[in-house]
Amino acid sequence: MERTLSIIKPDAVKKNIIGKIIDRFESNGLRIAAMKKILLDRNTAGEFYAIHKERPFYNDLVNFMTSGPVVVMVLEGDNAVKKNRELMGDTDPKKAQAGTIRADFAENIDANAVHGSDSLENAKNEIAFFFTQTEIR
Ligand code: ATP
Ligand code: MG
Repeated sequence: MERTLSIIKPDAVKKNIIGKIIDRFESNGLRIAAMKKILLDRNTAGEFYAIHKERPFYNDLVNFMTSGPVVVMVLEGDNAVKKNRELMGDTDPKKAQAGTIRADFAENIDANAVHGSDSLENAKNEIAFFFTQTEIR
């Protein structure tokens, strides 16, 4: 049993498709172990994506992630990290396989509907970044 961090990004929250995205997880063997809707401030979003600090898209990424509320979740299930990444599809929705969340719901590489941890180690760190132990059930 694994846990991973998922974020429904501001574009998808604005489109009112939180439920449609959560359905993809629940219909594919992932369970929501924790969830909250929050507005990220620039410090928090910047720290969360600190790994991309030197990349040319970093400022746009922080701007976008703070442009409206997000839904942060802990997903739990067998191979949760990999399964979530498969359900999400490629970072660029144009390259994402049909039937994935990004292919079906995302506009472009900046507004790409969801975030998902990319390794078990990052999942542990990202979960601890947003949730205390007692909030995960
Ligand atoms: P996320 O971390 O949001 O789950 P990801 O792991 O698929 O996405 P990363 O490489 O971690 O992709 O990039 C983080 C985010 O930065 C992407 O979701 C995307 O919005 C943005 N991004 C990544 N690469 C580019 C790029 N070449 N041009 C513009 N934006 C990009
Ligand atoms: Mg990433």
